[in-house]
Amino acid sequence: MPPADQQLIALRKASPHQWGEGKVHRIDPNEPAKLICGRLIRDVPGQNLVGIEEEITCQNCLLKKMREAEREVREQEWRERQRQWQQQREQENAEWWARYREYLQTPQWAEKRKLVLRRAYGICEGCGIRPAVQAHHLTYDNLGNEFLWELKAVCLICHERFHNQQRARRLRLRS
Ligand SMILES: [Zn+2]
Ligand SMILES: [Zn+2]
Ligand SMILES: [Zn+2]
Repeated sequence: MPPADQQLIALRKASPHQWGEGKVHRIDPNEPAKLICGRLIRDVPGQNLVGIEEEITCQNCLLKKMREAEREVREQEWRERQRQWQQQREQENAEWWARYREYLQTPQWAEKRKLVLRRAYGICEGCGIRPAVQAHHLTYDNLGNEFLWELKAVCLICHERFHNQQRARRLRLRS
């Protein structure tokens, strides 16, 4: 009787043959017609039995098991790195947005916005019809110290339309 904490697994004990005692293989849990060393059960005369890992004596079955365990560890490490990276990116993103929103409250931004609206004679540069009330960033490269040509005077409707489209595109890319 194996100890209670040992997981029982399906094994195949090959019949003794002219080269010696038959080896004990593990039956592939995902493909019950195969052994994990790759051979087909029907090519290995013997009997199926239930046992524990320690009973496996086929070197190739053991090697395969070891490689799988290593791969599992590597994959787990990779997932963990991905998770950390993602977390860091989200944090940086949040920090960036916090700084951005703060900047939009400053007198410097109010002044810049005024210059942009004045340049456009107070008319939206998106539709050319409605009054411009906001300044839109074409790029954030010089956030806080923008060139005036990096900003466009826009009405609320054009501004929302642009950012909604962008958001939809980002979501599509992500999914
Ligand atoms: Zn084997
Ligand atoms: Zn407009
Ligand atoms: Zn904008």
